[in-house]
Amino acid sequence: MELHYTSTRNSDVRVTASQAILKGLAPDGGLFVPESLPSLHASMEEIKEMTYQETAYEVMKQFLTDFTEEELKTCINRAYDSKFDTEEIAPLVKVDDTYYLELFHGATIAFKDMALSILPHLLTMSAKKNQAEDEIVILTATSGDTGKAAMSGFADVKGTKIIVFYPKNGVSKVQELQMVTQKGSNVDVVAIHGNFDQAQSGVKAMFEDQELAEELHARGYRFSSANSINIGRLVPQIVYYVYAYARLLKYEEIEEGEQINIVVPTGNFGNILAAYYAKQMGVPIDRLVCASNTNKVLFDFFQSGTYDKNRDFVLTSSPSMDILISSNLERLIYLASGEDADETKRLMEELKAAGCYTVSPKMQEMLSDFEAGYTDEEGTKETIRNVYKRTGYVMDTHTAVASHVCEEYKRKSGDMKKCVIASTASPYKFVHSVMEALEGSMEEGDELELLPKLQEASGTEMPQAVKDILDARILHHIECDVEQMKNTVKQILGVEA
Ligand SMILES: *Cc1c(COP(=O)(O)O)cnc(C)c1O
Repeated sequence: MELHYTSTRNSDVRVTASQAILKGLAPDGGLFVPESLPSLHASMEEIKEMTYQETAYEVMKQFLTDFTEEELKTCINRAYDSKFDTEEIAPLVKVDDTYYLELFHGATIAFKDMALSILPHLLTMSAKKNQAEDEIVILTATSGDTGKAAMSGFADVKGTKIIVFYPKNGVSKVQELQMVTQKGSNVDVVAIHGNFDQAQSGVKAMFEDQELAEELHARGYRFSSANSINIGRLVPQIVYYVYAYARLLKYEEIEEGEQINIVVPTGNFGNILAAYYAKQMGVPIDRLVCASNTNKVLFDFFQSGTYDKNRDFVLTSSPSMDILISSNLERLIYLASGEDADETKRLMEELKAAGCYTVSPKMQEMLSDFEAGYTDEEGTKETIRNVYKRTGYVMDTHTAVASHVCEEYKRKSGDMKKCVIASTASPYKFVHSVMEALEGSMEEGDELELLPKLQEASGTEMPQAVKDILDARILHHIECDVEQMKNTVKQILGVEA
């Protein structure tokens, strides 16, 4: 049976999976969502014997129904190969009585690789299926990790160009170096004088700009998105939650049907939404715990039912979660409204106009699968230090936020179900903050000199991705003001009037 996709803001929209991937965003500014959430076909008993790639096929075929088996398997095999430093792709590591689902074994050592290794293949396959001949231009705003993972995924993929925007002072040294040293004749990266939300709003405005779309189409280009709003990002993320559950079963850490909780360090709400979709597919997941840093707009939302982005934006040591507009939350709002596109549209328009909306008590009740917690900078550091002292396991700042929230949730609720924490980045990616946490204090100095120290402390080998940037040449130098983003894109594409 074919699964179609509609828009969170307009129930008249009806497209195939490949069309949704190709477009990225619905024409009305809404996000594509499946008309219904499919159930897992295979049993956990079967899935626990599967490799990551086989699990990926099992999950993704339910969502991308207009792809043939061969097409989908080709995409999967091109994505999850030796770019990952372990055959398991997403290993589950037990530390004390908690399980860390390590999603950082790909090319850029953060969880964005899980989806961005496959998105370019899904996208070019989708273009072929729909006879779209324009060159695909990927526009992406990044808080640090998406940008590099997207550049790496799209580099030299035929028929595509990619332009990434990042906040000049909002990413770590390693993240910035990873981006500005990226090779590939079709990649560009621009540092903007602004924050991530401004970068994301600027990109969204370009997607909604019909005049710009026509101008580009005349030159043989079409925009698409690699941001986590693309369902081609979301669907591959469901896979590792199914895989994690199956591994727990395989290792006899849980019994068949036993419920577990999932804790996710959250920014744009893509990763945790994927966990929720996995639950809807039938994976025995009880609580979905949403962990935030000081930018705790989601925590406040789950507490009060009011989403309010009117607050100071704080730069933290977990920059990939420094977000005040969590785009993917719109898909949850849509589900909570009973798939009411008019209501979702109204709330999102309120968000745009007033920066704030409140959901009805009934909708709030629909969100009761979610728990929320947050921690500040001190709590993040303390968690890294304490877990290391107790167990020798070194985690990155984002994972530490989740780990802290997980412990607090257990303590407050008394809920002793097994917890899987989405471990979203390698500690090497945030070496300065991690070493500061381990050593208690830190002198200013070159972040890169800390890498060998981390290697010593963690007893884990420095990832290839880090070794690669140490002596790579800087290839990208463009900077611009927020207001100049559109002109910069035109210049890069050579479509300046
Ligand atoms: C992107 C990112 C997150 C947040 O994930 P969302 O899907 O945006 O909620 C958390 N940690 C790291 C390291 C990331 O790169």
